Amino acid sequence: MAENESLVAQVVAAVLARLNDQSTQAAGGGEKLLIPVGVSARHVHLSPEDVAELFGPGYNLTPKKPLQPGQYAAEETVTLVGPKGTLTKVRVLGPPRGHTQVEVSVTDCFTLGIPPVVRASGHIAGTPGITIVGPKGARFLREGVIVALRHIHITPSEAAAWGLKDGDMVEVAVPAGDRALTFGQVLVRVSAASQLELHIDTDEANAAGLKSGDYVELKRGGERRGA
Ligand SMILES: [Zn+2]
Repeated sequence: MAENESLVAQVVAAVLARLNDQSTQAAGGGEKLLIPVGVSARHVHLSPEDVAELFGPGYNLTPKKPLQPGQYAAEETVTLVGPKGTLTKVRVLGPPRGHTQVEVSVTDCFTLGIPPVVRASGHIAGTPGITIVGPKGARFLREGVIVALRHIHITPSEAAAWGLKDGDMVEVAVPAGDRALTFGQVLVRVSAASQLELHIDTDEANAAGLKSGDYVELKRGGERRGA
């Protein structure tokens, strides 16, 4: 059984690699760049200090599911407590990073009773705070809650093939379905340690009728240089 599962995983990886190859090779031929969608449910990134505060001194997160290269969804979850409401079983992402950051949807902000502030990851100055509760403790954050700016992860070679630069703002189209639409203001994030993927939150996914693994199209000529 385990061998079969590993074979299936290998075949899936090979097919995905070929699909990615095809979308990159198509760059010169006026073809479409098809981008796989990754829907981000609400989650938290924790600093090492906050992992210790919430889960106990010396605690290590347990990887559950790989995400972008080097990143993972952890087994651990926390509770977010806002002025108006609470969200339980909020996934922790690892590995721990420099600053604790909470990523929620606009709908989640209404539930919690905090203002929705759309920001690129890492830009938390002036954002709302929240209380995070873990099994061993709680932490009041003065700031750090963002509604993540939708973005595309792409490698330097893929970005070059498509004439994209880190920080560009582009448009992507959801060409079919009952909720076909175009997303504007999509941030391009170029990094060697990345895998081509559009990251949107659950509100955005629901608005467009998308789920993880669906594909969207980069709209040509829609690129604008970022600041
Ligand atoms: Zn992302």
